[in-house]
Amino acid sequence: MTRRCPSCRQPAGERGVNRFFPFCSDRCRLLDLGKWFDGRYRVAGEPAGGDEAAPGTGEGEPTEGPDPGQEPGSGHLR
Ligand SMILES: [Zn+2]
Repeated sequence: MTRRCPSCRQPAGERGVNRFFPFCSDRCRLLDLGKWFDGRYRVAGEPAGGDEAAPGTGEGEPTEGPDPGQEPGSGHLR
């Protein structure tokens, strides 16, 4: 009884003879595996939001406070 390669539909040979069973070749095996992985990763993979933009939580000295009158050339010269 021969099975067919799930990837390319060609006879995959027999178990024990073909080390890539039930695929016909290593290539088809990887191909199918890749397809499988791709679908899975696409579902699980979501864009992670950057969690590093929250200045102003420290209660120390104001490093860059909005101080009108003390800014030497605030974008006017450049
Ligand atoms: Zn194949």
